[in-house]
Amino acid sequence: MKINVSLSRPIIIFFFTVFFVRTDFSQSSTKYQSADIEKKVADLLSKMTLDEKIGQLVQFSGDSGRAELVRKGKVGSFLNVRGANEVNMIQKVAVEESRLGIPLIMGNDVIHGYNTTFPIPLAEASSWNPELVTKAAKIAAWEASANGTHWTFAPMVDIALDPRWGRIAEGAGEDPYLGSVMAAAQVKGFQGDNFLNKNSIVACAKHFTAYGGAQGGRDYNSVDISERTLREIYLPPFQAAVESGAGTLMSAFNDLNGIPASANHFILTEILRNEWGFDGFVVSDWNSIAELINHGFAEDKKEAALKGITAGVDMDMAGDVEAGNVYLPNLKSLVESGELSEEIINKSAERILRIKYRSGLFDDPYVDSIYFAENIPSSEERNQTALQLSRESIVLLKNEGSLLPLKKELKSIAVIGPLADNQEDPLGPWSANPIVEDVVTALKGIQEKVSAGTIVAYAKGCTIDSSDTSDFNEAAEIARNSEVIIMVMGESRDMSGEAASRADINLPGVQLELIQKIYELGKPVVVVLMNGRPLTIEWIAENIPAVVESWFLGTQTGNAIADVLFGDFNPCGKLPVSFPRYVGQIPVNYNYKSTGRPYDDELKFTSRYIDYPNSPRYPFGFGLSYTEFKYSNLKLDKTKIKKNESVEASIEVMNAGSVSGKEVIQLYIKDLVASVTRPVKELKGFQKIELKPGETKTIEFVITPKMLSFLDVNLNETIEPGEFHVMIGGNSEELLKASFEIVE
Ligand code: BGC
Repeated sequence: MKINVSLSRPIIIFFFTVFFVRTDFSQSSTKYQSADIEKKVADLLSKMTLDEKIGQLVQFSGDSGRAELVRKGKVGSFLNVRGANEVNMIQKVAVEESRLGIPLIMGNDVIHGYNTTFPIPLAEASSWNPELVTKAAKIAAWEASANGTHWTFAPMVDIALDPRWGRIAEGAGEDPYLGSVMAAAQVKGFQGDNFLNKNSIVACAKHFTAYGGAQGGRDYNSVDISERTLREIYLPPFQAAVESGAGTLMSAFNDLNGIPASANHFILTEILRNEWGFDGFVVSDWNSIAELINHGFAEDKKEAALKGITAGVDMDMAGDVEAGNVYLPNLKSLVESGELSEEIINKSAERILRIKYRSGLFDDPYVDSIYFAENIPSSEERNQTALQLSRESIVLLKNEGSLLPLKKELKSIAVIGPLADNQEDPLGPWSANPIVEDVVTALKGIQEKVSAGTIVAYAKGCTIDSSDTSDFNEAAEIARNSEVIIMVMGESRDMSGEAASRADINLPGVQLELIQKIYELGKPVVVVLMNGRPLTIEWIAENIPAVVESWFLGTQTGNAIADVLFGDFNPCGKLPVSFPRYVGQIPVNYNYKSTGRPYDDELKFTSRYIDYPNSPRYPFGFGLSYTEFKYSNLKLDKTKIKKNESVEASIEVMNAGSVSGKEVIQLYIKDLVASVTRPVKELKGFQKIELKPGETKTIEFVITPKMLSFLDVNLNETIEPGEFHVMIGGNSEELLKASFEIVE
């Protein structure tokens, strides 16, 4: 993609003007480059045998029984080895007993915390608070490095439009801009300003690429999309991660337009290296090079190895050694037979060594437990960060008649549901080394929040997914005797994440029946949801007066939920993904195209369903507050600009209610007529602010040429003259609008 050079100056002005709406993530992709490191890498490479170079390209899961391979320099990395002692032991073999003493790099899935478990990434994205997300990633990096992890397989930056796909839980949702902000925020947190620090870990943006586009939402499924969709929707968060200095990327399982991502030269070399200038390394996903055989893309492991390495996958994550390991047994003979140039191996080894040097491994290969004991942030600080991020991740979906917040002095509350007194499931998918006993349940949080005189009765009512209704009566009994009922319902932690796609995204089991039974008692009911994806909750959304989306919040679950339910924290989360009404509407993302027959529910021959509306149940960017924010006076400083000029938009936001609150002010743009059809709106910036009751703030956005550009028919970035709409508001549907024109 060629970038129009005339775009660069306004971007810089913009970068310094408004942090939150920055669209240029380049703190500099080259910020870690150093001539000294390049020299060390070259010197070391020149001393390495072919076997030793290949060894750097090999990663196994678990080190047991592999000391001899390490001693021979035949392993570059392990995953799933945890703990300072375990890591130091095997590291000693690499550093002190192998010929060249090259340290191992230890990778792990530190996705949303290590011991302290933060909200799942989809929930973190609901906070729209990148600074807090950075802080959480930093704490995760501290805890992980104290336990010998040098490298995390995170952030997952896959855009996901399909809530059937279980891995939607691991990313930032449906929007490329919000996804890019969250990608950059996590990379910054994991790697710090300088990933040489003992307390920072190397980030790995995954899964490269378009993995979230799996057909039918089935995990590992094929992805068939245009290059335009690839570049407009799926690539931006990866580019943001690279520009933020991410040291590594992971190649995906899926096949992309007929070429498996783990053997895809176009994305791994032409885009990633040649266009973006990435100089770190790419690790495969678990066995994904060996799986080229299943794809029908390689005949055997030898061919798979050849295709993986020549496409640009530097390290073979051979999770399942028997089936998966393809580089170690095949690369040497491929070089010897002349099928593979040694230069390609050299390049891959060079990239891996570069990251090992950059991350300080050569200077500091061992875990220094004393340093960590003395310097790690206090547990108070870690828990406070987790609590604040959990609170900000909660999305209030409905609050009819201001049922919430509840009074702490209620006489009696019934807490019902399979997730209410549950410490495991709120951890969500992919918890690294959680301390399960530390997880505060929703029940505990509520019990500790209410007044001494409040009776809190609890009944599970049903399990998450069985058809057993035998405990319904007990639940109805306590509900009958209580003033208010809080029902904590949702999915188990293994219903989202990897290999956890669902064709039916209703509440599983008999949970809805239980809610309906309790509702019939005619008492006030609050439903708190815990889940890793948007669910279809039509009946609940229509009948239950108060609905709270808490996703999976991790360690501080119950404290954050209780803070929101009882008004100690005013909810401010906003959905990073639209909630469909019915599974048949998927995808129901906000940034669709208008079509030649735009939706009109009264006209048959328009783009619509005959049975249900097109609109989502809850749109992207949506989330209520206990106060009301009023938007007025949207103004633009110019109504006509030239292509290389910026426009300043301002809007007044007032807190018209009686409590303080945070609001996410969202900026959307529409290019009305272009040489390529454009979405009805695209998020281009946001700011999260806090307003006291009665307070008004004027919020300003600088709309830069970059934000007005798009990819032309040849996929070159361009800006075209014509009219643009600027839309600002508190969610993707309720927006004030102004317009301006770009003139030649
Ligand atoms: C997942 C990756 C993960 C890897 C290592 C794979 O199955 O797709 O996201 O990082 O395993 O655990």
